[in-house]
Amino acid sequence: MTDVADALEQLRSWQRPLRAQFPIVVANPELAYLDSAATAQKPGAVLDAVQHYLTTSNANAGRGSYPWANATTAAVERARERVKRFLGDPAPDRSSVHFTSGTSEGLRTVARDWLAGRLSDGDEIVVPFADHEANLAPWLEVRQLLARQGTEIRVRELPYQDGSGDYDPAALAATVGPRTRFVAATHVHHVYGADMNVHRIRRVVGPDVPICLDAAQSIGHLPLSVAGLDVDFVVFSGHKAMALPGTGAVWARGRRGPEFRPGGWAGTPNTVGIVSLAAALDWLGAAGTDRIEAWTVALAARLTDGLSRLDAYEVLGCRSSLAADSEVQRRRSIVAFRHREIPSRDLGFILYSHGFMVRSDGHCQAGAGEADGSVRVSLHVHNTAEEIEGLLATLINLQ
Ligand code: PLP
Repeated sequence: MTDVADALEQLRSWQRPLRAQFPIVVANPELAYLDSAATAQKPGAVLDAVQHYLTTSNANAGRGSYPWANATTAAVERARERVKRFLGDPAPDRSSVHFTSGTSEGLRTVARDWLAGRLSDGDEIVVPFADHEANLAPWLEVRQLLARQGTEIRVRELPYQDGSGDYDPAALAATVGPRTRFVAATHVHHVYGADMNVHRIRRVVGPDVPICLDAAQSIGHLPLSVAGLDVDFVVFSGHKAMALPGTGAVWARGRRGPEFRPGGWAGTPNTVGIVSLAAALDWLGAAGTDRIEAWTVALAARLTDGLSRLDAYEVLGCRSSLAADSEVQRRRSIVAFRHREIPSRDLGFILYSHGFMVRSDGHCQAGAGEADGSVRVSLHVHNTAEEIEGLLATLINLQ
């Protein structure tokens, strides 16, 4: 695949110094971290920001009036603005950012604190049945919660193109109707690696139906524009975007319906996590999400191409192409596959014995997904072509 080699060659001198900024990667040259979809490694700038905050102004936010407390409150507000800018928010005065512990809590908050109170008997919501469990369970909980109060809503499946591609706009058009009140979707599939072409959903559902986007696998991996996607909520995990675990956010547009204001007493925010999130978004912004995308898409294309030539392996999900105008679904930085004989969990252990850290299980995919587990390789900017060639060589030996 010369286009892959060309893409990697063009970016090599940009990527090398970035890789050098990940202390855990540099300290373990014999290991290849290939599980960024589960959680991302942290660049030194994020670790420094955490250290700096904790050693100069650690205090609670929104409480107290001494300088450390004020500095913490200001840091949280700055992080909110940083999230908006990172998402290309065209109207930051009207939108809001609510910090959570991650995507799971964020989606649950949208479900319980926003959606549940807006649905009436006979209303319908459309949600994905084979994406991450975190993007199905909260919507089913809303149905249960309302049923207990005597309100029956219908949960309909957001249809896919033949199982493992992106969403199917034609089938969606046949699913939505006058009682459709809400759509939940995923930006990049966490098993199949597909860009789900979420921008098409707006055209199908019209201007008034709120769309909630699970951006767990796209945040930090590609330029994310809320204006381009025309969605109303973006929910993501900070730890997958190189911030500390226990951090995440819900961005809410505040255009369709009243502003998103999660109820109840919020308590002390995760100030250190929020500081780390702002630093991570700064780092990703400076590195350039367009180039991170180009680099990791090229690596994933090389792996997909190499695997598809080996009879012993089955690659799940979409095919891969680097051509901008290709009809082939563009695979992002995730490649899941199975060996036709070696169980995936065993293959995961074998790969670790060769220094490759991959995930091998069912990947928390919701019920309608794969019955069997798979090995998932997920990439970020620190990964290299040499790691992918080494992995392919190992997989060839295991045929
Ligand atoms: N949604 C998707 C697409 C994911 O890949 C994940 C995690 O892997 C989640 C939601 C849940 O994220 P978290 O565990 O950070 O809440």
